[in-house]
Amino acid sequence: MKIQLETIPVWDGLKEGSECFLCSLMKEAEADGVRYYLSSAIMTPEVRVETNKHGFCKKHFAMLAEGNKAQSLGLVMDTYYEENKKSFIPSMENILSAGNPRKAEKAFSSLFKAYGERMNGCLICSRMNDRLIRYAYTVAALFEEDADFKAELKKSKGFCMHHTKVLVEIAPEALKGDVLLEYYKTLALLLKDNLDRVQADDYYLTQKYKSENKDKPWNGCEDAAKRAVYKLIGEAEVIDPLKK
Ligand SMILES: [Zn+2]
Ligand SMILES: [Zn+2]
Repeated sequence: MKIQLETIPVWDGLKEGSECFLCSLMKEAEADGVRYYLSSAIMTPEVRVETNKHGFCKKHFAMLAEGNKAQSLGLVMDTYYEENKKSFIPSMENILSAGNPRKAEKAFSSLFKAYGERMNGCLICSRMNDRLIRYAYTVAALFEEDADFKAELKKSKGFCMHHTKVLVEIAPEALKGDVLLEYYKTLALLLKDNLDRVQADDYYLTQKYKSENKDKPWNGCEDAAKRAVYKLIGEAEVIDPLKK
């Protein structure tokens, strides 16, 4: 598989020094996706065919709703609703003409099944997933090709648990043999050391809340409990891309 490298964003991400630069890059990708589907792009027929057909996952529908672009979102939702009718109306008619509750319940279950199918697949998740694959591939490729990158990565705070899994899944596309094994071990060591570091920061936070420690410095641990959560679950997760 030929994958386009994203050397600049990946190097910039690594230099940023966050808990997981893939989380930062994916938050950006998510914001770009939301912006795109609230922009004038939705006036073009091809884009509307896609939004009508696939729509978005619940999280990204909610982000679109909170994006304060009523006119763009209004157009998207109008034709999305029109498309919904094709799958909702037959069940609705069956409910309204049902002769007993059992028949109405059966028709309701077809209605909710059709709703579930309409909610499958998300265009924003798909755009995010394309980028995530390129970023994960680039991390592996730079690990092999660029000694400075490898050295910086080993000194970094590593990745969240969620994105470590993504990196491991993509790794065999980019690397093989000894370098693949070295990469796996580097990812595991980064995870081990940095989960311990985050836990130590979190412990420091718990101690800092004791009255006898109120004059001690925070040492950057004010947000440690929050970091402890996101180091495990990651941020801006790809939920429901069209291509799994
Ligand atoms: Zn992450
Ligand atoms: Zn989504």
